[in-house]
Amino acid sequence: MQRARDILQKAFGYDSFRLNQANIIETVIQGGDALVLMPTGGGKSLCYQIPAMVRDGTGIVVSPLIALMQDQVDALQQLGIRAAFLNSTQHYQAQIRIADELKAGELDLLYIAPERLLSEQMLDLLGQIRLALFAIDEAHCVSQWGHDFRREYQQLSQLHERFPKVPRIAMTATADQRTREEIIDQLGLHDAATYINSFDRPNIRYTINEQANEREQLLRFIQLEHAGDAGIVYCLSRRKVEDIASWLCAKGYVALPYHAGLPDEYRQQNQQRFLHEDGIIIVATIAFGMGIDKPDVRFVAHLNLPKSIEAYYQETGRAGRDGQLASAWMSYGLQDVIKLRQMMQESDADEQYKRVSHYKLESMLGLCELTNCRRQALLEYFGEKLPESCGNCDNCLNPPQTWDASEAAQKAISAAYRTNQLFGVNYLTDVLLGRENARIRQNGHYRLRVYGAGSELSHVEWRRLYRQLIALGYLNVDATGHGSLKLTEKCRPLLRGEATLALRKMERPVKVTRTKGRTTDNRLPAHDQKLFDALRALRLELANKQGVPPYIIFHDSTLIEMAGKRPTSLNAMNHISGVGESKLKHYGRAFMSLIEQHSFK
Ligand code: ADP
Ligand code: ZN
Repeated sequence: MQRARDILQKAFGYDSFRLNQANIIETVIQGGDALVLMPTGGGKSLCYQIPAMVRDGTGIVVSPLIALMQDQVDALQQLGIRAAFLNSTQHYQAQIRIADELKAGELDLLYIAPERLLSEQMLDLLGQIRLALFAIDEAHCVSQWGHDFRREYQQLSQLHERFPKVPRIAMTATADQRTREEIIDQLGLHDAATYINSFDRPNIRYTINEQANEREQLLRFIQLEHAGDAGIVYCLSRRKVEDIASWLCAKGYVALPYHAGLPDEYRQQNQQRFLHEDGIIIVATIAFGMGIDKPDVRFVAHLNLPKSIEAYYQETGRAGRDGQLASAWMSYGLQDVIKLRQMMQESDADEQYKRVSHYKLESMLGLCELTNCRRQALLEYFGEKLPESCGNCDNCLNPPQTWDASEAAQKAISAAYRTNQLFGVNYLTDVLLGRENARIRQNGHYRLRVYGAGSELSHVEWRRLYRQLIALGYLNVDATGHGSLKLTEKCRPLLRGEATLALRKMERPVKVTRTKGRTTDNRLPAHDQKLFDALRALRLELANKQGVPPYIIFHDSTLIEMAGKRPTSLNAMNHISGVGESKLKHYGRAFMSLIEQHSFK
C-alpha cells in the first residue's frame, strides 16, 4: 500500500485517497476481485490505474467508450504513465507497434474495446504476457435490464476462465439492485469484494422550475450563476436545439448545437470545441453526453422533462465531475407532460414495458412537484437514505409555499368528468372560466354547473393546476383523443371531500438582484480571478500546442488553488493538488513565472 500512496502523491499529485479507494486498491493489489459502485466523478479510474502500476505486468481496461480512450490515454501520458489503447479507429501500423510494446512489457495500462479483446488473436497475445489485472469499466453494459446493454460484455466471463489468476475489477455508476445482481451473475463475481458508495453528488445543486418563459428563465440562470462557464442545455427536439443555440449566440454566448440530424463533421467539430475550449455551451438532444468525460461542465440545463429519474440523474450527473460546485437546472411545463404521456401510450412496446415507463415518468413528475428536499427524494429513489435535508437544492434554499388546492382541484376534475372525459386542458379551462366559444355552444356545455364556476383562478393558474393534477396522477392524458383528460382512482377521495390536496404555490418571477443561491462560489476574489484567467489562458495555449483538452493539463480546481496560494518555488508548486512529478517538470516553471508576473503588478 505504501507504493500505492507514493504513486498517488508523485504521479497524480493528490494528498489522500477518497471514499473507499484505498480499500479497493488494496484488494486488487493483493489479487482479489472487486465490484465497485461509485457515482460519476467519484474517482473510479484510480482504483484500477494504481494497482496496474503496483502489480507486475499490464493492466487491461475494457471499455465500450471508444471515443474516450484517446483522452484517457493522453491524460495518463501527461502524468508520465505508460498507457496505450487499441481500437478500430487506429491504423494497422499503430496497432502493430502497441502489440510490440505489450510483448516487451512496456505498458502499465492498455485500454481496449470488448469485441477486440475477445478476438482469438488478442487472447493469444494476452497469453504471452504478464497481466496485472482486468478492469471492466461501465460494467452495467452486461445487464439487459440496464440502459446500455452490449452483447459482447456478456462474453467477458471468458477472461476469468482463461486467466483465472488475474484479478478483475468491475466498475459502474449505475446504482440499482437488479443491475448489480446481473453484473455479478454474468461476470461470475460471486466472490468479489463489493464496494458501494453513496450515489449522492453533493456538489450539484438541483433546481426545478415551472416553465414561464423558458428562454428568459434560462438566460437569467446562465447570466446570474454561470456566465463564462461551460455547460450543456438539453432540448427534446432538433429544431429547438438549433433555435436555442442561435438565440444564446445572439445574446453573446458561444453556444453550439449538437443533434443526430447535423452533418457528422459539424457535430464532431462542435463536440471538439466543447472539450478543447473554455466556457462553451453545447445545446443538444440527449444524443449528446455518452462518453463525454469533461470534468469542468459547470451546469446542465434541461428545457424539457426527462422521461425518468434515471435519465435525469444520468444527464445532470455530467455536471461537476471535478467535485467543484455545479448546477442541475430544469424548466418544465404542461406540454412536456402531455407529450411524454402520449409518446408512451402510442409506442408499440408491450404492456409490461409501458407500465414500467409510466411508473418512471410518474416518479419524475413527482420529483418536479415535490415541496421538500429534492436530493433526499432522488437518493431514496435509488434506495439510499439521506437523514438530513441537503441545504443545496431549490426547495431547501427557498422553501416553496403551498396552498390548499382541494376545492379548486374538485372543480377541475368535475369539469373533466361532466364533459365525459373527452376534452383537453384548454377546453376545460374555458369551461371553468365561462368563456363563450362555438365548441362550448355546440356541445351545450354552458349548461353545466361547472361552467363559469372557476373565476377565482386565471387561465394560467388553471392550466398550472391541471399540470399538477396530471403530474400527481389524478388525471391521465389520453393519447387517442386530443389530449383529453381522464380521471383516475386517485380522484375519488378528493371528490368526496375525504382527502385534501396541498400544492406548490406559483413562484413569483425571480428578481435579478437575487444574491442568495449563486452556485459558482468557487469564485475567487477579484485579484485572484485575474490571475486565474491568465492561468487558464496559458493552459489553453499549452493544450492547443499538443492537441489535447485543457483539463488534461490541469483541472480548474488546480488552477484555482494556484491562484490562491501563488506558489513561487517548485517545492511549493508540488504541493498543489493535481501537480505530480511529471506535470511539475513539464509545466511548473511556466505557471510559476506567470504567477510571479502577476504578483508584482
Ligand atoms: P469516475 O470515473 O468515477 O467518474 P474519475 O476517475 O474520472 O471519476 O475521477 C474524477 C476526478 O476526481 C478526476 O479528475 C480524478 O483525477 C479526481 N480524483 C480521483 N481520486 C482523487 C483523489 N484521491 N484525490 C483528488 N482527486 C481525485
Ligand atoms: Zn435539499
